[in-house]
Amino acid sequence: MKRRPLILGALAAPVLLRVPLARAQPAPDVLVIGAGIAGLGAARRLADAGLRVTVLEVRDRIGGRIATDRSLGVPIERGAGWIHGPRGNPLSALARTVGAETFVTDDDSLDLRRADGRPVPEDAIWAAWDRHSAALDAAGEAAPGVSLAEALDAALPGVDPVTDWMRAAFTAFDLGAPPARIEARHHDEDEAFEGADVVLPGGYDRLLGPLAEGLDIRLATPVTALTRRADGVTAMTPGGPLTARFAVLAVPLGVLQRGTPVLDPPLSSRQRAALDRLVMGAVTKLSLRFPGIAWPEDVQYLGMMDAEPGRWPLALNHATWTGEPVLTMVATAEAAQRLDRLPEAALVADALEVLRAAFGPSLPDPVGAVASRWSTDPLSLGAYSFPALGARLDDPDALTESDDGRVYLAGEHCTARWRGTAHGALLTGRAAAEAILDTL
Ligand SMILES: Cc1cc2nc3c(=O)[nH]c(=O)nc-3n(C[C@H](O)[C@H](O)[C@H](O)COP(=O)(O)OP(=O)(O)OC[C@H]3O[C@@H](n4cnc5c(N)ncnc54)[C@H](O)[C@@H]3O)c2cc1C
Repeated sequence: MKRRPLILGALAAPVLLRVPLARAQPAPDVLVIGAGIAGLGAARRLADAGLRVTVLEVRDRIGGRIATDRSLGVPIERGAGWIHGPRGNPLSALARTVGAETFVTDDDSLDLRRADGRPVPEDAIWAAWDRHSAALDAAGEAAPGVSLAEALDAALPGVDPVTDWMRAAFTAFDLGAPPARIEARHHDEDEAFEGADVVLPGGYDRLLGPLAEGLDIRLATPVTALTRRADGVTAMTPGGPLTARFAVLAVPLGVLQRGTPVLDPPLSSRQRAALDRLVMGAVTKLSLRFPGIAWPEDVQYLGMMDAEPGRWPLALNHATWTGEPVLTMVATAEAAQRLDRLPEAALVADALEVLRAAFGPSLPDPVGAVASRWSTDPLSLGAYSFPALGARLDDPDALTESDDGRVYLAGEHCTARWRGTAHGALLTGRAAAEAILDTL
């Protein structure tokens, strides 16, 4: 909570910074487009190196897919929630800087129910996990063009409802897409830091404070076009053009693929081809606050099996670290895209139907809800990118190779090594900054 004023300071910026400042200040050296963690990571590094940096962000807040909501009385993460592998993870250094508390979510603490409410015995869960893990390992050896679903089916023939549930609850959540759309041989080519995953009880957005502190951030400032010349760049905004020597373009993959901002000249054919092969996945979250805890209080995850793959297979129990009656339900794959389009009441009713089937009809109605809806958010157009069928392993890295030495791409979609993560996005932002510094 202590860092809140910093973020509020940034939020107050557009009022002070409308158009006139663009003329009152010397031109920046670098324009950073997008104030997600990639853009902020780039801007921090460049500003620390003594460059003049201006960050342009279309939303009225920083953070992008790091989006903490406090309307349910506890911090709710609409986007990133975990520091995956905290040991050596650059996010852990940010957490230490702000003195953020962390809580280890126990991956082995799971109460899995069939759609008729029958619990799946613990030994059956872990036996299925062993089968699923072995199938995932085998899938890594698949031939080019084979989907993860095909490879898993080949490794695990026959009906296996618990491993099917694991595909939706774990694999589609981790990868951000249904196994049928994932290139099997690339599904596990990324790396992970060590250590058990942690959440941040005080809010994930606290990590942004040290990155954003003191930066010139212009909120509510969409960049519609970016022109690059031999000697610099010009970004078009509603307040007029802004020029600089360099730009870091850190908008989400889906937004770039839609053609925003318009690049003149366009990306090189190599970068465009890589961009076109990558795909933005769908994962949706729905956090619900209930009048009281009406589920196994000490269990970390509730698991729900449903006939529709990806329809609310998992719920994170906030009671384990807050003591509060709050669950965050997760939906994946095609179900996530379908659910993102439902109006709020229908969305909540859909989640309750699955929860009540599994954990009992007496579960009361919730008293508050927060939905994430990343796939229908026009400023994101998806949750995170994934190793899509037909994409090359090095496509994300091809995006980072600036074709003109003026515009550098950054974002979670720009790294195969740490794909789809907040730390990956941060590291791409820092790498873009280093690439600019190397040219000076
Ligand atoms: C549901 C969900 C759960 C996740 N869980 C985790 C997790 O537990 N752990 C983890 O490590 N990662 C997680 N992630 C991934 C992580 O959130 C992202 O990888 C990371 O936040 C992406 O950062 P970014 O800077 O690349 O993009 P973004 O955060 O999307 O930032 C891009 C910014 O560009 C802005 N923008 C767009 N268009 C324009 C324009 N024309 N002009 C100016 N600005 C523009 C956007 O508004 C946005 O603020 C999760 C993501 C989702 C969606």
